Amino acid sequence: MRWRVRGARFARGRTNGSAPTWFGADSAKWLATKVTRDPQGLRICLQAMGVSVSMLASGSRGNCALVASSSTRILVDAGISCRETFKRLKTLGEDPHSLSAVLITHEHCDHVYGLATLAKKLRIPIFMTGATHQAWSRALRDENGERPRLEKFERFESGHTFQVGDIAVKPFTIPHDAADPVGFTFRAEGIKVGIATDLGYIPVSVKDHLRGCDVLIVESNHDLEMLRVGPYPWSVKQRVMSRVGHLSNVALADFFTSDYDNSATFVVLAHLSEQNNHPEIARREAERALATRGGLFMNRVLLASQTEALEPIRL
Ligand SMILES: [Zn+2]
Ligand SMILES: [Zn+2]
Repeated sequence: MRWRVRGARFARGRTNGSAPTWFGADSAKWLATKVTRDPQGLRICLQAMGVSVSMLASGSRGNCALVASSSTRILVDAGISCRETFKRLKTLGEDPHSLSAVLITHEHCDHVYGLATLAKKLRIPIFMTGATHQAWSRALRDENGERPRLEKFERFESGHTFQVGDIAVKPFTIPHDAADPVGFTFRAEGIKVGIATDLGYIPVSVKDHLRGCDVLIVESNHDLEMLRVGPYPWSVKQRVMSRVGHLSNVALADFFTSDYDNSATFVVLAHLSEQNNHPEIARREAERALATRGGLFMNRVLLASQTEALEPIRL
């Protein structure tokens, strides 16, 4: 079951006493009707709502997102502590023990910080590439040289689709200075979600993977001028700006004006630098770029936050 609204207004609803939720206008109307008629049926109707995306945390101090279908819940990255992950899931009304799997994009600390504890507590499959797993376990060796063990490690290869429950996952290579970094697309119930953060630029292959997404989560890391005059050492500035660093607001805007297919109902700006960017600058640049091709009315722009979970997006 899904609702798809293009070029329509969106309503912000508070449905379960916890976090408010973004819905398309039709689904908000349907939900209101349903609740009025049958207040007891609210939980049932929410469970039947199909695909949802929740950004639990995003930025250089930790990344974590939840992509869920009616029957499968995938955590993408575990870059905040296990305790904080559980806390943020619970604020969204999600039970951490209902997670189906964790997928890791790459081994940088802001994507794996809570992984070892999370894996131990939940005992669910942890998916990453072989090279990412090696890099992660090498970095976590103890004083005896012992590497951490994952009870349920699942290896995937970039470019090869695999299935987690009813969600088809396609990992794809991104240009970033990690062992084998990937972005993902997820397909379930006729919905496509794309996640691409931590990339120095957007190659043609990534543009292809991001076509047709209903929800597009994409990096808008830094404002070039703020980075240039900011406090980072020059070596770090060079790394961030490099072809294997992070995507600037202007590079993302360039993608929106030249290659983006305007497919997404929701565009989520993610992995914003707290030092070298400002949410309103990132939003303004993205919206201005989307507007040049008439896409602003079709793409609602949301900003992922480092410090709190973003309201769930339901489709
Ligand atoms: Zn990274
Ligand atoms: Zn990162």
